[in-house]
Amino acid sequence: MSTYEKPNIVLIDHFQSSKYGLPQETSMNFREKIEGHDMKELTEKYGSPLFVFSEKKIREKYDDTTSKIRDVYPDVQFAWSYKTNYLKSICSIFHDMGSWAEVVSDFEYQKARNLGIKGENIIYNGPYKPIASLRVAVKEQALIHIDHLQEIIDLESVAKELGMTPQVAIRLNMNTGTYPQWSRFGFNLESGQAEQAIRRIMNKKLFKLRGLHTHIGTFMLEPKAYEAAAVKLTTFMLEIEAQYKIEIEYLDLGGGFPSKSDLKGVYQPPEIVVKDTTEYARLIGPAILNNIGTRKPPKLIFESGRHFIDEAGYLLTTVVSSKIMPDTRRSYILDAGVNFLYTSTWYNFTLEVNQQLKGIPEPAILNGPLCMNIDIIEEDLKIPHLKTGTQMVLSPVGAYNVTQWMQFIRYRPAVVLLTKDKKVEIIRNMEDLSSVEKDEVLYGGETGIS
Ligand SMILES: *Cc1c(COP(=O)(O)O)cnc(C)c1O
Repeated sequence: MSTYEKPNIVLIDHFQSSKYGLPQETSMNFREKIEGHDMKELTEKYGSPLFVFSEKKIREKYDDTTSKIRDVYPDVQFAWSYKTNYLKSICSIFHDMGSWAEVVSDFEYQKARNLGIKGENIIYNGPYKPIASLRVAVKEQALIHIDHLQEIIDLESVAKELGMTPQVAIRLNMNTGTYPQWSRFGFNLESGQAEQAIRRIMNKKLFKLRGLHTHIGTFMLEPKAYEAAAVKLTTFMLEIEAQYKIEIEYLDLGGGFPSKSDLKGVYQPPEIVVKDTTEYARLIGPAILNNIGTRKPPKLIFESGRHFIDEAGYLLTTVVSSKIMPDTRRSYILDAGVNFLYTSTWYNFTLEVNQQLKGIPEPAILNGPLCMNIDIIEEDLKIPHLKTGTQMVLSPVGAYNVTQWMQFIRYRPAVVLLTKDKKVEIIRNMEDLSSVEKDEVLYGGETGIS
């Protein structure tokens, strides 16, 4: 005979009045379209979930930022950070607007070359550059940004072997008054390590020192950090030029400008904490120009990633079901989870739904479709009840998600671009079994071990 336990009845206290009175009805942000395109039609055609990028937004943000920086400095160049989003169509929009490529691996380097970018317009960064890829970069006269001493040694041997002169900059790390200091990459300025690296490069005379580079961090909310970095780079440049009687062609301030996203743990919303580009520009320009006297201003390079693309990306997802958890929260299951939203670890997204929903807010958690306890998109929501089938759009998601996404449990979704002439173009197909198994080999032949 079976035995049963008595059910446990729990009081759901969020419908009770508190000292503030009864809970008030709230509504969710409502949205049916993105730039005039109906979200339901998009997912009917391309599947749910679906990444959607707006070419208009990319171009507007790029024009806005570059013009604000050009207002304060005469010679500016941007290099698109491939790792932020290296879909071909996205990269080619940035190249079309005049961006060079900034890459951190041999594979990204090759992607840039395949898009027609010449070596001389590729900045090759990163802490691991295999010898074979250094050879290619030297031959093609790419701008190699040296990260550490071993790389100087490797590059010296490549230079001798090929009888060619590598075009280089060195990456520096320094105290810019922000915490944590990104000291893992490049040569430290304050300790004298950077000076030693320069001494070796100048004494060996095997490289052409073209620039000085730093990338102080990502999502940098404090414009003063760039001012500090610009002053330090400029001062160091002038010292090197005086000592070795050379002219350095460019200073590279890296990326790190924030997007309007909501970093977890930051108390105020992004509309308040994320300052406009003019705030950065008006500190960076003078930090260099006021320090160089009559010298010609060096070219100023930026490698912005997140700032340009984050707000141009949306993820359309569908509520596939829901259930009540023992702690009385309602768990909604979405068809997209942390497999496609790596950045959900650090950022809260803006949520909008395609139904006019009004009701008493209930504690809710948004889960993805994975068979994993960690598959949580948002865990501390108070929202009216969402019906199964409701479509939800999460934003901004344009930076880092379509490079760091994983093929885990589910196929990665399609990516579409809403073009500037109002068309919808597919820029990455949804995966299928053949794309997932393409590189697998079945041990034992076509039918396996028999
Ligand atoms: C990742 C990276 C960037 C882009 O950083 P964002 O914070 O996305 O602007 C630029 N330069 C280097 C060296 C990087 O590693």
